[in-house]
Amino acid sequence: MNRDLPVPDDHSDVPPGDTDPALHGTSEATADATYMGLALEQARAAMLQGEVPVGAVVVCDGQVVAVGHNCPVGGHDPSAHAEMQALRAAAQTLGNYRLPDCELYVTLEPCVMCAGAIMHARIKRVVYGAADPKTGACGSVVDLFAEPRLNHHAEVVGGVRRDECVGILQRFFSERRAAARARRLAAAAEATGNASDTP
Ligand SMILES: [Zn+2]
Repeated sequence: MNRDLPVPDDHSDVPPGDTDPALHGTSEATADATYMGLALEQARAAMLQGEVPVGAVVVCDGQVVAVGHNCPVGGHDPSAHAEMQALRAAAQTLGNYRLPDCELYVTLEPCVMCAGAIMHARIKRVVYGAADPKTGACGSVVDLFAEPRLNHHAEVVGGVRRDECVGILQRFFSERRAAARARRLAAAAEATGNASDTP
């Protein structure tokens, strides 16, 4: 991508997680949207496995070097967030635990654990879709990347393909609530049936 293209203006008035990709340089915004599309595919893969749908992609010099999706439930692994999976795979692929030339794309704002791993890996840029008001560590709950006492500061961009990234999470949780409701109703119906069978 051509980073020499003029950027229309600075966006210092845009709060974290609220960045409008349309405000970025055109080529960078297009690349961001494309890579976020790949992260969304990973989120869909997570959903098919019954995991909270979050997906991530690591890009190095314009090449996708790793993907990952959320799988803590199936993997019995509290650290198996999409970012961790993608970072591990990228480090294996590149043969280096430091990834200073890499960008990480993820559909949901990274949590504290993932922000820590991003810093250890020296990722240069983080692009996320949906803000996470419960665990987000890029400004929603805390902003670790703005903490001057920590020694690595990746550039962070939020809100890329936000509606799709939020939409897949909303669909997952609403389907899960509907399934839980159906199970409760079936259990209640069975209990009523058993009670009426009692002489
Ligand atoms: Zn995380």
